[in-house]
Amino acid sequence: MNAFQNLGLEDPILQAINDLGFETPSEVQEKSIPILLEQEQDLVALAQTGTGKTAAFGFPMLQKINVDSRTTQGLILSPTRELCLQITNEMKLYGKYYKGLNVTAIYGGASITDQAKQVKKGAQIIVATPGRMKDMISRRLVDISKIEYAVLDEADEMLNMGFYEDITDILSHTPDDKSTWLFSATMPKEVSIIAKKFMHSPVEIVVGTKNQGATNVSHEYYLVNSRDRYAALKRLADANPDIFSVIFCRTKRDTQKVAEKLIDDGYSAGALHGDLSQNQRDLVMKSFRNKQIQMLVATDVAARGIDVDDITHVINYQLPDEIETYTHRSGRTGRAGKTGVSMVIVSKSELRKIKSIERIIKKQFEQKDIPGGMEICQVQLMSLANKVHDTEINHEIDPYLNDINALFEDNSKDDLIKKFFSVEFTRFFNYYQKSKDLNVEAQHSSSRDGDNSSKSTRYFINVGRKDGFDWMKLKDFLREVLQVGQDDVFKVDVKDSFSFFNTEVEHTTKVLEFFTDFKQNGRFINVEITEDKGRSQNRGRGGRRRDDKRGRSRRDRRSGEFNGQSRGRSGSRRGLKENRSEKPVGSRSRRSNSGQKSANSVSSRPRRSRRK
Ligand code: AMP
Repeated sequence: MNAFQNLGLEDPILQAINDLGFETPSEVQEKSIPILLEQEQDLVALAQTGTGKTAAFGFPMLQKINVDSRTTQGLILSPTRELCLQITNEMKLYGKYYKGLNVTAIYGGASITDQAKQVKKGAQIIVATPGRMKDMISRRLVDISKIEYAVLDEADEMLNMGFYEDITDILSHTPDDKSTWLFSATMPKEVSIIAKKFMHSPVEIVVGTKNQGATNVSHEYYLVNSRDRYAALKRLADANPDIFSVIFCRTKRDTQKVAEKLIDDGYSAGALHGDLSQNQRDLVMKSFRNKQIQMLVATDVAARGIDVDDITHVINYQLPDEIETYTHRSGRTGRAGKTGVSMVIVSKSELRKIKSIERIIKKQFEQKDIPGGMEICQVQLMSLANKVHDTEINHEIDPYLNDINALFEDNSKDDLIKKFFSVEFTRFFNYYQKSKDLNVEAQHSSSRDGDNSSKSTRYFINVGRKDGFDWMKLKDFLREVLQVGQDDVFKVDVKDSFSFFNTEVEHTTKVLEFFTDFKQNGRFINVEITEDKGRSQNRGRGGRRRDDKRGRSRRDRRSGEFNGQSRGRSGSRRGLKENRSEKPVGSRSRRSNSGQKSANSVSSRPRRSRRK
């Protein structure tokens, strides 16, 4: 009797398991399958993606439904189209020895009529995304009034994506006495609410610890200056020649930019974000699955449902705004029993977030150093040596050997090896030999970026929350209009009717010049250098320059406005009379060559041959 038989699984499933080559049940399978087979029982299972949870609910569901009936008996809700298709495929594989089984996927972005036809043929199991499911229910294209099993897969993700209403609506069309099985990687309040509201005394299964990331994932962080973020990313990639990774950025634009830069620098990278069409996203995912793409740069939303098993590294290029999201990111690696590494590139101002994440995942991060240039050269050299060692000889070379031998007649074996390896080594060596140390000491300064923080300028700007900004929107707006890099605007602090932000001193002139006569929606937007606690030295430098150039009047105006005394004079009231045909806030209003250069100023290494 094998381990799966012990769980109570029967022949058709056991045969499929055999075909798939599964040898032992995973933890979540071991814990849930016997319960679900034996009883009609609600279940809450806390398990990461990649732990085998599709089989944990799939095997019992397949064994319990009646394939001779055409009635829909099982409904599986999942957050994304990608995941929906994956679950459908897995269910088909697991149930391939059940004759007459029809598992149908229902998701947005594809023909609703075709999906309705599939359902009509008699789908015993429907796997659906909530939006499309709700749509089909309202058009009476599906009947889920007789289902016996409902699965809420990745419940936390579905709620994160705003599907609460859709889920409650869908469940209201299902019978009360069905069994509900909820799977979630984390257990935020919202998931507990769903469990309380829709489930009857569920059994709770925890794989690993609650809210804890996968146990076989190690967590590392690298402390760098914000402006060295991209250089640090490249070093991490170069120091791990066989990396197969997802790199997370905060915004779609950063995602696109980082991917483009990596591609320009010769890495096999691709972008995955919501501004791409479904077709483009499918193509990128296909290349990633085939490992033609080694580094997939993605937003959190777009990466939902990626379940590629061999991801070696997750790199947090920027930390997520919601630290809970970190668990989902790191869960993309360390799947199906493999080990993985979740790396965070972090600047000083974000260090406290690491502590908060540690509390959530109940694991310690290890602070590591960004590898130095020579270390990378060494890693690359040894990786090449190993590859050469493991390469099978291709005898198509044989006819050319005489000529090659003649060419190297005078070289000893030693020389030959040295020459051969120098081809690759020199490329890395030339690039890295004068490279600087990117690591930052945590204790030197409490300000943003260690040594560089003494070179930043703090500004006042006369827009704030009332104008529809939060810190992210303002940061994005400033970066866009100033055409500066993603980390060049920082310490953004948005108040009701004004805000503050910093740039490196080198950008001061550009910032001030840009905002000299800048109008948005008919309103003048003013920027002034301002005081920053603990940063008087910088303000002094930037401030004097500004005052020398333009006199004191604007500074006075600013301080007046700051106190709420002369709002009209500072431009906002004046602005109301101006023409309204200006571009909306956030549009690219002005190009600055220097800004453009700064956005791409990280020196790229010499073009390398594209990796396969
Ligand atoms: P899931 O968490 O369901 O997305 O599963 C992750 C991957 O593990 C999928 O590729 C499954 O086919 C695979 N898998 C599921 N159960 C097992 C098992 N018991 N042994 C080996 N692989 C498994």
